[in-house]
Amino acid sequence: MSEKKNEWSEKLLYAPKNGYDRLSAADAEAMEAYCEDYKKFLDNGKTERLCVDYCVALAEARGFKAYQPGMKLKAGDKVYQNNRGKGIMLAVIGTDDLSHGANIGAAHTDSPRLDLKPRPVYEEAEMAYLKTHHYGGIRKYQWVTIPLELHGVAMLSDGSSVAVHIGDKEGDPQFIINDLLPHLGREQGKKPLNEAIPSESLNLLIGSKPLAGEECSDRFKLGVLKLLNERYGIVEEDLISAELEVVPAGKARDIGLDRSFIAAYGHDDRVCAYAELAAIFAVKKPRKTAVCIFADKEEIGSEGVSGMQSQVFEWFMGDLCKGQGVDLRDCFANSFCLSADVTAAYDPNFADVYDKRNSAFINYGVGLCKYTGAGGKGGASDASAEVVGKLRKLLNDNEVFWQMAEMGKTDAGGGGTVAKFMAARNIDTIDAGVPVLSMHAPYETVAKLDCYMTYKCMKAVFENA
Ligand code: MN
Ligand code: MN
Repeated sequence: MSEKKNEWSEKLLYAPKNGYDRLSAADAEAMEAYCEDYKKFLDNGKTERLCVDYCVALAEARGFKAYQPGMKLKAGDKVYQNNRGKGIMLAVIGTDDLSHGANIGAAHTDSPRLDLKPRPVYEEAEMAYLKTHHYGGIRKYQWVTIPLELHGVAMLSDGSSVAVHIGDKEGDPQFIINDLLPHLGREQGKKPLNEAIPSESLNLLIGSKPLAGEECSDRFKLGVLKLLNERYGIVEEDLISAELEVVPAGKARDIGLDRSFIAAYGHDDRVCAYAELAAIFAVKKPRKTAVCIFADKEEIGSEGVSGMQSQVFEWFMGDLCKGQGVDLRDCFANSFCLSADVTAAYDPNFADVYDKRNSAFINYGVGLCKYTGAGGKGGASDASAEVVGKLRKLLNDNEVFWQMAEMGKTDAGGGGTVAKFMAARNIDTIDAGVPVLSMHAPYETVAKLDCYMTYKCMKAVFENA
Protein backbone atom coordinates (compact mmCIF):
# COMPACT_ATOMS: atom_id res chain seq x y z
CA MET A 1 0.00 0.00 0.00
CA SER A 2 1.51 3.30 -1.06
CA GLU A 3 0.53 6.42 0.79
CA LYS A 4 0.21 9.64 -1.13
CA LYS A 5 2.19 12.48 0.37
CA ASN A 6 2.77 16.08 -0.56
CA GLU A 7 4.83 18.91 0.84
CA TRP A 8 2.10 19.65 3.41
CA SER A 9 2.15 16.12 4.78
CA GLU A 10 5.90 16.35 5.26
CA LYS A 11 5.53 19.73 6.95
CA LEU A 12 2.45 19.23 9.11
CA LEU A 13 1.93 15.58 9.93
CA TYR A 14 3.50 13.70 12.84
CA ALA A 15 4.61 10.42 11.36
CA PRO A 16 6.44 8.12 13.78
CA LYS A 17 8.66 5.54 12.10
CA ASN A 18 9.58 1.99 13.10
CA GLY A 19 12.97 2.07 14.81
CA TYR A 20 14.43 -0.52 12.44
CA ASP A 21 13.90 1.92 9.56
CA ARG A 22 16.13 4.44 11.34
CA LEU A 23 18.63 2.44 13.40
CA SER A 24 22.29 3.04 12.52
CA ALA A 25 24.68 0.11 12.17
CA ALA A 26 26.63 1.35 15.19
CA ASP A 27 23.47 1.52 17.32
CA ALA A 28 22.37 -1.92 16.11
CA GLU A 29 25.64 -3.37 17.35
CA ALA A 30 25.57 -1.46 20.64
CA MET A 31 21.98 -2.60 21.17
CA GLU A 32 22.92 -6.28 20.98
CA ALA A 33 25.78 -5.85 23.45
CA TYR A 34 23.56 -3.86 25.80
CA CYS A 35 20.86 -6.54 25.73
CA GLU A 36 23.34 -9.32 26.56
CA ASP A 37 24.29 -7.40 29.72
CA TYR A 38 20.65 -6.75 30.49
CA LYS A 39 19.85 -10.47 30.33
CA LYS A 40 22.62 -11.11 32.88
CA PHE A 41 21.07 -8.47 35.11
CA LEU A 42 17.71 -10.26 34.91
CA ASP A 43 19.21 -13.67 35.64
CA ASN A 44 21.06 -12.28 38.67
CA GLY A 45 18.15 -10.19 39.92
CA LYS A 46 15.04 -12.31 40.37
CA THR A 47 14.01 -10.39 43.50
CA GLU A 48 14.46 -6.83 44.76
CA ARG A 49 17.12 -8.04 47.20
CA LEU A 50 19.06 -9.89 44.49
CA CYS A 51 18.84 -6.80 42.26
CA VAL A 52 20.38 -4.65 44.99
CA ASP A 53 23.19 -7.17 45.58
CA TYR A 54 23.96 -7.28 41.87
CA CYS A 55 23.78 -3.47 41.52
CA VAL A 56 26.26 -3.09 44.39
CA ALA A 57 28.66 -5.58 42.77
CA LEU A 58 28.45 -3.83 39.38
CA ALA A 59 28.73 -0.37 40.92
CA GLU A 60 31.74 -1.21 43.10
CA ALA A 61 33.51 -2.70 40.09
CA ARG A 62 33.05 0.71 38.44
CA GLY A 63 34.45 2.74 41.32
CA PHE A 64 31.25 3.57 43.23
CA LYS A 65 31.79 3.80 46.98
CA ALA A 66 29.27 3.12 49.75
CA TYR A 67 28.11 6.57 50.88
CA GLN A 68 29.03 7.59 54.42
CA PRO A 69 27.25 10.57 56.00
CA GLY A 70 29.46 13.62 55.85
CA MET A 71 31.72 12.16 53.14
CA LYS A 72 33.67 14.86 51.23
CA LEU A 73 32.67 14.63 47.58
CA LYS A 74 33.86 16.38 44.43
CA ALA A 75 32.64 16.46 40.84
CA GLY A 76 32.87 13.06 39.20
CA ASP A 77 32.77 11.13 42.50
CA LYS A 78 30.51 8.09 42.50
CA VAL A 79 28.56 6.87 45.53
CA TYR A 80 25.72 4.52 46.36
CA GLN A 81 23.41 4.05 49.32
CA ASN A 82 22.00 0.60 50.00
CA ASN A 83 18.54 0.91 51.61
CA ARG A 84 18.20 -2.17 53.84
CA GLY A 85 19.20 -4.50 51.02
CA LYS A 86 15.90 -3.85 49.25
CA GLY A 87 16.40 -0.54 47.49
CA ILE A 88 19.42 1.41 46.29
CA MET A 89 20.35 4.95 45.31
CA LEU A 90 23.40 5.84 43.20
CA ALA A 91 24.85 9.25 42.41
CA VAL A 92 27.56 10.74 40.22
CA ILE A 93 28.42 14.18 41.56
CA GLY A 94 28.05 17.02 39.06
CA THR A 95 30.24 20.03 38.42
CA ASP A 96 27.30 22.33 39.34
CA ASP A 97 26.31 22.22 42.99
CA LEU A 98 22.99 20.69 43.98
CA SER A 99 21.22 24.06 44.24
CA HIS A 100 20.98 23.72 40.43
CA GLY A 101 19.08 20.48 40.95
CA ALA A 102 19.84 16.88 40.07
CA ASN A 103 18.85 14.76 37.10
CA ILE A 104 17.07 11.81 38.63
CA GLY A 105 16.03 8.43 37.28
CA ALA A 106 13.52 6.59 39.44
CA ALA A 107 12.62 2.98 38.77
CA HIS A 108 11.54 -0.02 40.84
CA THR A 109 13.05 -3.47 41.13
CA ASP A 110 10.23 -5.32 42.87
CA SER A 111 8.04 -7.41 40.56
CA PRO A 112 4.73 -9.22 41.03
CA ARG A 113 5.26 -12.60 42.68
CA LEU A 114 4.07 -14.97 45.39
CA ASP A 115 5.34 -14.39 48.94
CA LEU A 116 5.20 -17.14 51.54
CA LYS A 117 2.65 -16.61 54.30
CA PRO A 118 4.12 -16.27 57.83
CA ARG A 119 3.02 -19.82 58.67
CA PRO A 120 3.39 -21.46 55.28
CA VAL A 121 4.12 -25.15 55.84
CA TYR A 122 1.34 -27.72 55.98
CA GLU A 123 0.56 -31.21 54.78
CA GLU A 124 -2.55 -32.47 53.08
CA ALA A 125 -3.26 -35.87 51.52
CA GLU A 126 0.29 -36.91 52.45
CA MET A 127 1.94 -34.15 50.47
CA ALA A 128 3.75 -31.08 51.87
CA TYR A 129 2.93 -27.55 50.73
CA LEU A 130 3.80 -23.91 51.32
CA LYS A 131 0.96 -21.38 51.46
CA THR A 132 1.56 -18.18 49.49
CA HIS A 133 0.17 -14.64 49.50
CA HIS A 134 0.50 -12.90 46.17
CA TYR A 135 2.35 -9.60 45.92
CA GLY A 136 1.23 -7.09 43.31
CA GLY A 137 -1.20 -7.45 40.46
CA ILE A 138 -0.93 -10.99 39.19
CA ARG A 139 -3.32 -12.99 37.03
CA LYS A 140 -3.46 -16.05 39.26
CA TYR A 141 -4.22 -18.53 36.50
CA GLN A 142 -0.77 -17.77 34.99
CA TRP A 143 1.09 -19.07 38.06
CA VAL A 144 -0.08 -22.67 38.07
CA THR A 145 1.86 -25.51 36.41
CA ILE A 146 5.02 -23.47 35.78
CA PRO A 147 8.41 -24.19 37.39
CA LEU A 148 9.11 -21.89 40.33
CA GLU A 149 12.12 -20.87 42.43
CA LEU A 150 12.31 -19.72 46.05
CA HIS A 151 14.49 -16.78 47.13
CA GLY A 152 14.78 -14.71 50.26
CA VAL A 153 16.01 -14.40 53.77
CA ALA A 154 15.05 -15.89 57.14
CA MET A 155 15.96 -14.46 60.54
CA LEU A 156 16.77 -17.25 62.97
CA SER A 157 15.99 -17.30 66.69
CA ASP A 158 19.58 -16.34 67.57
CA GLY A 159 19.25 -13.12 65.52
CA SER A 160 21.38 -14.32 62.62
CA SER A 161 20.05 -14.29 59.08
CA VAL A 162 20.26 -16.95 56.43
CA ALA A 163 19.85 -16.47 52.69
CA VAL A 164 17.63 -19.01 50.96
CA HIS A 165 18.00 -19.73 47.25
CA ILE A 166 16.46 -22.87 45.80
CA GLY A 167 15.78 -23.67 42.18
CA ASP A 168 18.06 -21.31 40.27
CA LYS A 169 21.15 -23.49 40.00
CA GLU A 170 21.56 -26.34 37.52
CA GLY A 171 20.38 -29.54 39.17
CA ASP A 172 18.41 -27.77 41.95
CA PRO A 173 14.89 -28.97 42.60
CA GLN A 174 12.13 -26.52 41.74
CA PHE A 175 8.53 -26.08 42.87
CA ILE A 176 5.11 -26.04 41.29
CA ILE A 177 1.51 -25.09 41.93
CA ASN A 178 -0.95 -27.61 40.55
CA ASP A 179 -4.01 -26.94 38.43
CA LEU A 180 -7.11 -28.96 37.76
CA LEU A 181 -7.12 -31.46 34.93
CA PRO A 182 -9.46 -30.47 32.07
CA HIS A 183 -11.34 -33.75 32.49
CA LEU A 184 -12.67 -32.53 35.84
CA GLY A 185 -12.59 -28.82 35.05
CA ARG A 186 -16.12 -28.40 33.75
CA GLU A 187 -17.31 -26.09 36.55
CA GLN A 188 -13.96 -24.32 36.93
CA GLY A 189 -13.99 -23.61 33.20
CA LYS A 190 -17.23 -21.65 33.50
CA LYS A 191 -15.76 -19.23 36.06
CA PRO A 192 -14.45 -15.76 35.16
CA LEU A 193 -10.69 -15.81 34.55
CA ASN A 194 -9.96 -13.95 37.79
CA GLU A 195 -11.98 -16.38 39.93
CA ALA A 196 -10.96 -19.74 38.45
CA ILE A 197 -7.83 -19.95 40.62
CA PRO A 198 -8.60 -18.66 44.13
CA SER A 199 -5.70 -17.18 46.13
CA GLU A 200 -5.94 -19.92 48.76
CA SER A 201 -5.23 -22.55 46.10
CA LEU A 202 -1.85 -20.98 45.22
CA ASN A 203 -0.05 -23.56 47.34
CA LEU A 204 3.44 -24.61 46.46
CA LEU A 205 4.08 -28.36 46.29
CA ILE A 206 7.34 -29.06 48.13
CA GLY A 207 7.47 -32.73 49.09
CA SER A 208 5.91 -36.10 49.78
CA LYS A 209 8.52 -38.20 51.61
CA PRO A 210 7.59 -38.87 55.25
CA LEU A 211 10.20 -38.33 57.95
CA ALA A 212 9.03 -41.18 60.17
CA GLY A 213 6.69 -44.14 60.28
CA GLU A 214 2.90 -44.13 60.16
CA GLU A 215 2.58 -43.66 63.92
CA CYS A 216 4.05 -40.13 63.69
CA SER A 217 1.72 -37.20 62.92
CA ASP A 218 2.85 -34.37 60.62
CA ARG A 219 5.46 -36.72 59.17
CA PHE A 220 5.23 -35.25 55.63
CA LYS A 221 5.53 -31.69 56.93
CA LEU A 222 8.41 -32.87 59.11
CA GLY A 223 10.07 -34.39 56.06
CA VAL A 224 10.46 -31.00 54.37
CA LEU A 225 11.19 -29.13 57.60
CA LYS A 226 14.09 -31.49 58.24
CA LEU A 227 15.54 -30.73 54.80
CA LEU A 228 15.22 -26.97 55.41
CA ASN A 229 16.84 -27.47 58.81
CA GLU A 230 19.78 -29.42 57.40
CA ARG A 231 20.43 -26.92 54.65
CA TYR A 232 19.66 -23.62 56.38
CA GLY A 233 19.33 -24.31 60.10
CA ILE A 234 15.70 -23.20 59.87
CA VAL A 235 12.96 -24.39 62.23
CA GLU A 236 9.27 -23.70 61.63
CA GLU A 237 9.13 -20.61 63.88
CA ASP A 238 11.97 -19.02 61.86
CA LEU A 239 9.65 -18.83 58.84
CA ILE A 240 7.59 -16.25 60.75
CA SER A 241 10.56 -13.86 60.52
CA ALA A 242 11.33 -14.59 56.89
CA GLU A 243 10.75 -12.99 53.52
CA LEU A 244 10.66 -15.82 51.04
CA GLU A 245 9.57 -15.05 47.51
CA VAL A 246 8.33 -17.51 44.92
CA VAL A 247 9.32 -16.44 41.42
CA PRO A 248 9.28 -18.08 37.99
CA ALA A 249 12.21 -20.35 37.24
CA GLY A 250 14.33 -20.06 34.12
CA LYS A 251 16.51 -17.49 32.46
CA ALA A 252 15.94 -14.57 30.15
CA ARG A 253 15.83 -15.76 26.55
CA ASP A 254 15.88 -14.25 23.09
CA ILE A 255 12.53 -14.65 21.39
CA GLY A 256 11.82 -14.80 17.68
CA LEU A 257 13.74 -16.22 14.73
CA ASP A 258 15.37 -12.82 14.39
CA ARG A 259 16.02 -12.60 18.16
CA SER A 260 14.41 -9.16 18.26
CA PHE A 261 12.64 -9.78 21.61
CA ILE A 262 13.66 -10.81 25.11
CA ALA A 263 11.29 -12.79 27.31
CA ALA A 264 11.95 -12.97 31.05
CA TYR A 265 10.42 -12.68 34.47
CA GLY A 266 10.48 -9.15 35.90
CA HIS A 267 11.03 -6.80 32.95
CA ASP A 268 8.64 -4.59 34.97
CA ASP A 269 10.58 -2.73 36.08
CA ARG A 270 14.09 -4.14 35.88
CA VAL A 271 14.21 -3.21 32.20
CA CYS A 272 14.07 0.48 33.17
CA ALA A 273 16.21 0.06 36.28
CA TYR A 274 18.94 -1.50 34.15
CA ALA A 275 18.64 1.32 31.59
CA GLU A 276 19.24 3.81 34.41
CA LEU A 277 22.08 1.79 35.86
CA ALA A 278 23.91 1.39 32.54
CA ALA A 279 23.38 5.10 31.85
CA ILE A 280 24.71 6.29 35.21
CA PHE A 281 27.74 4.00 34.67
CA ALA A 282 28.33 5.72 31.32
CA VAL A 283 28.20 9.23 32.81
CA LYS A 284 31.64 10.68 33.55
CA LYS A 285 31.55 14.18 35.00
CA PRO A 286 28.02 15.50 34.44
CA ARG A 287 27.11 19.16 34.84
CA LYS A 288 24.25 18.32 37.20
CA THR A 289 24.49 15.50 39.71
CA ALA A 290 23.03 12.29 38.25
CA VAL A 291 20.98 10.19 40.66
CA CYS A 292 19.33 6.79 40.31
CA ILE A 293 16.88 5.34 42.75
CA PHE A 294 15.63 1.79 42.49
CA ALA A 295 12.70 1.59 44.86
CA ASP A 296 10.97 -1.45 46.29
CA LYS A 297 7.21 -1.89 46.88
CA GLU A 298 6.03 -0.07 43.74
CA GLU A 299 3.78 -3.00 42.89
CA ILE A 300 1.84 -2.51 46.14
CA GLY A 301 1.66 1.29 46.06
CA SER A 302 5.25 2.43 46.78
CA GLU A 303 4.55 2.02 50.50
CA GLY A 304 6.87 1.27 53.38
CA VAL A 305 10.42 2.14 54.31
CA SER A 306 11.86 0.80 51.03
CA GLY A 307 9.16 2.27 48.77
CA MET A 308 9.33 5.54 46.81
CA GLN A 309 7.17 7.27 49.42
CA SER A 310 9.86 6.62 52.03
CA GLN A 311 11.85 9.55 53.37
CA VAL A 312 15.00 7.57 52.62
CA PHE A 313 15.28 9.62 49.42
CA GLU A 314 15.23 12.91 51.39
CA TRP A 315 17.73 11.41 53.79
CA PHE A 316 20.22 10.57 51.04
CA MET A 317 19.70 13.67 48.91
CA GLY A 318 19.54 15.88 52.00
CA ASP A 319 22.90 14.61 53.13
CA LEU A 320 24.46 15.20 49.70
CA CYS A 321 23.04 18.74 49.81
CA LYS A 322 24.30 19.36 53.35
CA GLY A 323 27.81 18.48 52.21
CA GLN A 324 27.56 21.30 49.65
CA GLY A 325 25.79 23.78 51.94
CA VAL A 326 22.65 23.54 49.80
CA ASP A 327 19.03 23.52 50.99
CA LEU A 328 17.36 20.26 49.90
CA ARG A 329 14.25 22.20 48.92
CA ASP A 330 16.26 24.25 46.41
CA CYS A 331 17.73 21.06 45.00
CA PHE A 332 14.31 19.42 44.52
CA ALA A 333 12.76 22.59 43.05
CA ASN A 334 15.40 22.61 40.31
CA SER A 335 15.60 18.86 39.71
CA PHE A 336 14.22 16.81 36.86
CA CYS A 337 13.00 13.25 37.27
CA LEU A 338 12.35 10.59 34.74
CA SER A 339 10.05 8.07 36.37
CA ALA A 340 11.29 5.12 34.37
CA ASP A 341 8.65 2.43 34.33
CA VAL A 342 7.24 0.13 31.71
CA THR A 343 4.12 0.81 29.70
CA ALA A 344 1.79 -1.51 27.81
CA ALA A 345 2.83 -2.40 24.27
CA TYR A 346 0.07 -2.59 21.67
CA ASP A 347 -0.88 -6.24 21.29
CA PRO A 348 -2.89 -7.08 18.16
CA ASN A 349 -4.22 -10.22 19.89
CA PHE A 350 -6.13 -7.94 22.26
CA ALA A 351 -6.65 -4.93 20.02
CA ASP A 352 -9.95 -3.90 21.60
CA VAL A 353 -8.38 -2.63 24.86
CA TYR A 354 -6.01 -0.21 23.11
CA ASP A 355 -6.54 3.19 21.54
CA LYS A 356 -4.37 2.53 18.53
CA ARG A 357 -3.67 6.22 17.96
CA ASN A 358 -2.31 6.58 21.49
CA SER A 359 -0.55 3.28 22.10
CA ALA A 360 3.09 2.35 22.43
CA PHE A 361 4.27 0.07 19.64
CA ILE A 362 7.03 -2.50 19.69
CA ASN A 363 10.25 -1.14 18.12
CA TYR A 364 9.16 2.49 18.17
CA GLY A 365 11.46 3.34 21.07
CA VAL A 366 11.04 4.49 24.67
CA GLY A 367 7.40 5.14 25.53
CA LEU A 368 6.70 8.53 27.15
CA CYS A 369 3.58 8.83 29.29
CA LYS A 370 2.35 12.31 30.15
CA TYR A 371 0.00 10.70 32.64
CA THR A 372 -0.89 7.24 33.88
CA GLY A 373 -3.77 6.60 36.30
CA ALA A 374 -7.24 5.23 35.72
CA GLY A 375 -10.54 6.67 34.52
CA GLY A 376 -10.31 10.48 34.43
CA LYS A 377 -6.55 10.33 35.09
CA GLY A 378 -7.25 9.31 38.72
CA GLY A 379 -3.97 8.86 40.58
CA ALA A 380 -1.87 10.33 37.77
CA SER A 381 0.97 12.79 38.12
CA ASP A 382 0.25 14.36 34.69
CA ALA A 383 3.45 16.04 33.52
CA SER A 384 3.06 19.62 32.28
CA ALA A 385 3.37 20.65 28.65
CA GLU A 386 6.65 22.30 29.62
CA VAL A 387 8.07 19.07 31.04
CA VAL A 388 6.89 16.99 28.07
CA GLY A 389 8.34 19.63 25.75
CA LYS A 390 11.68 19.60 27.53
CA LEU A 391 11.99 15.80 27.30
CA ARG A 392 10.79 15.67 23.69
CA LYS A 393 13.41 18.21 22.65
CA LEU A 394 16.12 16.47 24.66
CA LEU A 395 15.39 13.12 23.00
CA ASN A 396 15.18 14.59 19.51
CA ASP A 397 18.47 16.47 20.04
CA ASN A 398 20.14 13.22 21.13
CA GLU A 399 18.68 10.96 18.43
CA VAL A 400 16.74 8.83 20.86
CA PHE A 401 13.73 7.06 19.32
CA TRP A 402 10.65 7.80 21.42
CA GLN A 403 6.90 7.56 21.20
CA MET A 404 4.02 9.04 23.19
CA ALA A 405 1.59 6.59 24.71
CA GLU A 406 -1.27 5.89 27.02
CA MET A 407 -1.57 2.45 28.53
CA GLY A 408 -4.84 1.57 26.77
CA LYS A 409 -8.41 2.70 26.24
CA THR A 410 -9.62 5.12 28.90
CA ASP A 411 -12.38 2.77 30.04
CA ALA A 412 -10.25 -0.39 29.89
CA GLY A 413 -8.41 0.04 33.21
CA GLY A 414 -5.17 1.76 34.15
CA GLY A 415 -2.17 1.78 36.43
CA GLY A 416 0.24 3.99 38.30
CA THR A 417 3.96 4.55 38.83
CA VAL A 418 6.28 6.31 41.27
CA ALA A 419 5.91 9.55 39.27
CA LYS A 420 3.37 11.14 41.60
CA PHE A 421 5.59 10.54 44.64
CA MET A 422 8.51 12.31 42.97
CA ALA A 423 6.27 15.15 41.77
CA ALA A 424 4.92 15.54 45.33
CA ARG A 425 8.51 16.39 46.35
CA ASN A 426 8.34 19.46 44.10
CA ILE A 427 10.37 17.74 41.37
CA ASP A 428 9.32 18.08 37.70
CA THR A 429 8.61 14.48 36.74
CA ILE A 430 7.53 12.53 33.67
CA ASP A 431 7.00 8.83 33.03
CA ALA A 432 8.92 7.02 30.32
CA GLY A 433 9.84 3.41 29.81
CA VAL A 434 9.89 0.26 27.75
CA PRO A 435 6.65 -1.02 26.17
CA VAL A 436 5.96 -4.56 27.44
CA LEU A 437 3.86 -7.42 26.08
CA SER A 438 2.08 -9.59 28.70
CA MET A 439 3.01 -7.20 31.51
CA HIS A 440 2.93 -8.77 35.00
CA ALA A 441 2.89 -12.29 33.54
CA PRO A 442 5.50 -14.77 34.82
CA TYR A 443 7.24 -14.37 31.47
CA GLU A 444 7.03 -10.87 29.95
CA THR A 445 8.27 -9.81 26.53
CA VAL A 446 10.05 -6.66 25.38
CA ALA A 447 11.78 -5.58 22.17
CA LYS A 448 15.55 -5.13 22.26
CA LEU A 449 15.35 -1.88 20.32
CA ASP A 450 13.06 -0.34 22.93
CA CYS A 451 15.34 -1.49 25.78
CA TYR A 452 18.32 0.15 24.14
CA MET A 453 16.45 3.37 23.37
CA THR A 454 15.39 3.60 27.04
CA TYR A 455 19.08 3.38 27.96
CA LYS A 456 19.89 6.16 25.46
CA CYS A 457 17.03 8.20 26.90
CA MET A 458 18.40 7.86 30.45
CA LYS A 459 21.89 8.73 29.27
CA ALA A 460 20.59 11.88 27.58
CA VAL A 461 18.77 12.83 30.80
CA PHE A 462 21.87 12.36 32.96
CA GLU A 463 24.20 14.15 30.56
CA ASN A 464 22.07 16.92 29.12
CA ALA A 465 18.78 17.53 30.97
MN1 MN B 1 6.30 -0.95 36.95
MN1 MN C 1 3.98 -3.28 37.54
